[in-house]
Amino acid sequence: MANTEDNLFKNVISHAKEYGFIFPSSEIYDGLSAVYDYGQNGAELKNNIKEYWWKFMTLLHDNIVGIDAAIFMHPTTWKASGHVDAFNDPMIDNKDSKKRYRADQLIEGVIEKLEEKIEKEIEKAAKRFENFDRAMFVSTNARVVEYQKKIDEINDRLKTAMANNDMVAMKQLVDDLEIADPISGTKNWTDVRQFNLMFSTEMGSVADDANKIYLRPETAQGIFVNFLNVQKTGRMKIPFGIAQIGKAFRNEIVARQFIFRMREFEQMEMQFFVKPGEEMKWYEFWKAKRLKWHQALGLGNDNYRYHDHLNLAHYANAACDIQFNFPMGFRELEGIHSRTDFDLKSHEKYSGKKLQYFDSEDNQNYIPYVVETSVGLDRMFLSVLASSYKEEKLEDGSERVVLKIPAPLAPNKVAILPLMKKDGLPEKAHEIMNLLKFDFRCFYEEKDAIGKRYRRQDAIGTPYCITIDHQTLQDNTVTIRNRDTMKQDRVAIDAVKAIISESVSMAELLKTI
Ligand code: ATP
Repeated sequence: MANTEDNLFKNVISHAKEYGFIFPSSEIYDGLSAVYDYGQNGAELKNNIKEYWWKFMTLLHDNIVGIDAAIFMHPTTWKASGHVDAFNDPMIDNKDSKKRYRADQLIEGVIEKLEEKIEKEIEKAAKRFENFDRAMFVSTNARVVEYQKKIDEINDRLKTAMANNDMVAMKQLVDDLEIADPISGTKNWTDVRQFNLMFSTEMGSVADDANKIYLRPETAQGIFVNFLNVQKTGRMKIPFGIAQIGKAFRNEIVARQFIFRMREFEQMEMQFFVKPGEEMKWYEFWKAKRLKWHQALGLGNDNYRYHDHLNLAHYANAACDIQFNFPMGFRELEGIHSRTDFDLKSHEKYSGKKLQYFDSEDNQNYIPYVVETSVGLDRMFLSVLASSYKEEKLEDGSERVVLKIPAPLAPNKVAILPLMKKDGLPEKAHEIMNLLKFDFRCFYEEKDAIGKRYRRQDAIGTPYCITIDHQTLQDNTVTIRNRDTMKQDRVAIDAVKAIISESVSMAELLKTI
């Protein structure tokens, strides 16, 4: 991470704490690694992101319904899903720094550096030659060909080692690539070991192995085991989807990037059940739809890109990530996976219960294929927070920090600010608040100079401030200030609701997708 980006990220993190968005968990005991609490403003922003996702799924698609399954599930669920045997990450320690890493991520880091070198060569050449032909250059330039060959070779070895669960081969790759620990700078590594990421606990009062259960590492399985319940009770016809928002838990080996990688986090997942053979059509459909959903927030279309998976998970026949340009670079924000019939088939096998759909049009039974969209709520939160955080220099030489959060997601929509704490201004302000509070989350404040109060609202991303002054008492007008432009207009109290509604409406945002 470059220095300025590093500083920006640090500023975002401290801002999030200072203004009640995110606190370290159990901070009075020095926190708990990779676990965070959402404060008064964070909880509102998080709820609004959930609403944006839930409404998109369940209101805009009449063939998608939502459920809320339990975190605890029968332990065999995780045997059937493959998580007991295969939800592992390869872990490696540096003996000098005593830091722990994921070996696959260290190796992927080498690939990323080679990819950056290729991009640099392309950039240089594109500047030099008119009518630059990227494809031609990539296939003929000796240096680029050499880098690409190296990338393919590393990818092949990584893929084979992961597929064969061969940790000796993983270690050999780390050695051959001469990977050094970024902290100690040494290549003094331990062997690579597999580490299962599921948290387990005991259910009931007898603590033996038979009672061992897991905290779900993904919400998807709660949907798969309820597939027939929902299909039958909802009389759903394929293609249809089941959506869910809920907590998931992973004992991540490396969890150092604030809320990007947590041990307790929230997922917003939708499993879309389709006819076998039609999954690629729906995979492309959801890939495009989900990108549009992200882009509609207006955080900058260039901040998103697709990343197709080369190494597919055991259950998938196609997969890609939507990556976001986080302060530490482009990283996975959402996964879109074509999961085949792997999960339902496996649950059929382990439970002995039929999980098939009767297609009345074709007059046949089949196990549907599944296309899933899975986005981390906390990562969504980070993408919104980090990209809306702005440090601005104003014309008069002063500075402000403003969160330009998309207005429908902002924790508070409007601040009601009586200019003074006397002369009946607070009473009038409360009158206005009572008019607005049923439609918008309002924030009332009467302390400090008005400029200071505006700054505080900027810092928590409130799109509008309404100031009540002596003129208000005479002619029923107020000043309405826009967070982004800082422009102030005198308007009639009767007009306020319409002005605010226009930009903070979730419905209007959803219409743009
Ligand atoms: P990564 O490669 O970053 O570990 P993943 O591919 O394992 O992620 P999925 O299993 O596809 O992630 O989970 C779907 C989504 O859940 C991810 O796109 C991400 O937004 C979110 N997610 C996964 N793990 C975490 C975590 N530890 N903390 C926060 N969000 C997470």
